[in-house]
Amino acid sequence: MTPTIDRSTNPSLDGKRVLITGASRGIGADIAQTFAAAGARLVLSGRDHESLESFSRTLDTETAIVVADLSTAAGPDTLAADAVDAFGGVDVLVNNAGISYPEPVDALDTAHFDEVIQVNLRAPSLLAARIGRAMADGDGGSIVTVASAAALRPLPEHYAYCTSKAGLIMATKVLALELGGRGVRANSVCPTVVLTDMGQKVWGDPVKSAPMLARIPSGRFAEPSEVSATALWLASDASAMINGIDIPVDGGYLVS
Ligand code: NDP
Repeated sequence: MTPTIDRSTNPSLDGKRVLITGASRGIGADIAQTFAAAGARLVLSGRDHESLESFSRTLDTETAIVVADLSTAAGPDTLAADAVDAFGGVDVLVNNAGISYPEPVDALDTAHFDEVIQVNLRAPSLLAARIGRAMADGDGGSIVTVASAAALRPLPEHYAYCTSKAGLIMATKVLALELGGRGVRANSVCPTVVLTDMGQKVWGDPVKSAPMLARIPSGRFAEPSEVSATALWLASDASAMINGIDIPVDGGYLVS
């Protein structure tokens, strides 16, 4: 059974300025809803202004929209600068945008490999460095990276994806080490499968999902709200002494 998460009992982000990448749908949109309910002001980012605009109208909080393509060379630095400008600073960064092109190693497509590394590793690492520096120069802050259980255990047909997410976890740890003394915390959330657009694309076929489900002791995939609840805790002062860790949200997959 999947429990319902009561957003009213969650830690507060009252007035916090939060940048969420990949906020248009899936896990990022759920994090936006959860953080809005916790009182945060949101900078929503993605590639499509129209979908971000219509989504922002459903949120009961102050929002700003910054369109950015994180696969481009300048995308991360430009987004960092624009997001800081939106509300005069960023207190929380949620590095969530990500992509996947499942394909076997012996059919690896170079363009796919490069794009996955750009969006899943280069962009969030640069963004965290730039926003982290701004946080350290200001009142500090919390960086929450949506990595994956695939960073901690190899998955077939996920060569670029596993590599990108494992690298991102290490980037997050270095950030925690360097900026921890200046009031910045950086941690990762590592979900198992979540049936978003990406989850459906990769795991929608029962032939693929059944063996994966069989390896999860809880017997089900994760819900977006379960990733959001962990992200909220890491973003908030409730986790003030937590720095440089990666938390599986995986129903025990990594111990099976
Ligand atoms: P979705 O495919 O549902 O959403 C992906 C989001 O990333 C969209 O908002 C999309 O925005 C944005 N995005 C994609 N490419 C770019 C780009 N080039 N520039 C800027 N934004 C981009 O994915 P999920 O919600 O499932 O995934 C969210 C995160 O969670 C990812 O990092 C993923 O790796 C991770 N994750 C997902 C799991 C799953 O099973 N779903 C499991 C473990 C981790 P738009 O297209 O509008 O630009």
